[in-house]
Amino acid sequence: MKIICIGRNYAAHAAELNNPIPEKPLIFLKPDTALLKDDKPFYIPDFSNDIHYELELVVRISKSGKSIQTKFASQYYQQITVGIDFTARDLQSDLKSKGHPWEISKAFDYSALLGSFVSVDEAKDKDGNFQFYMEKNKEKVQVGNSSQMLTSIDAMISYVSHFFTLHTGDLLFTGTPAGVGPVKRGDLLEGYLKEEKRFSCEVK
Ligand code: ZN
Repeated sequence: MKIICIGRNYAAHAAELNNPIPEKPLIFLKPDTALLKDDKPFYIPDFSNDIHYELELVVRISKSGKSIQTKFASQYYQQITVGIDFTARDLQSDLKSKGHPWEISKAFDYSALLGSFVSVDEAKDKDGNFQFYMEKNKEKVQVGNSSQMLTSIDAMISYVSHFFTLHTGDLLFTGTPAGVGPVKRGDLLEGYLKEEKRFSCEVK
């Protein structure tokens, strides 16, 4: 199982970090050791003083495929949820400034929080989009809608499957909308998809 992520997939989020919008999808991976599920707490690692949450829609690949055309991509996932791409922003900024790969700031243990899945059909709103948000300590901090993605879920599946063969169970983190921010011990993070809570995570 692999976790494939896309960066800067919402214009407003790219702008809040002063990043240009990439010409092509910006892709990175997390190993399976990054997974954090079943509402387990997130422990702030000792190597960072600036861990950020990034709330994202996550789809689960339901059959193997390579070089999938965008028009067929919707046949490759049936389940969706929300998750968090935890990011050690201080490490990432340092590595980025040197032009180095920033893997360790994104792919560390338990950096990929996963909510409980629901069927794609159930999660869609009346326009066929996915509406999602996160509360930090009961206050709404991020709101997103899949219609604002620069690269759609289907186009992302097509793009990444040209480089990586997709297998059942692979996860796609589809990018974060604006509103990312730091976490501290004691924070409670709760993710919602179409008004249904899909995860609850205590930061320790
Ligand atoms: Zn992200």
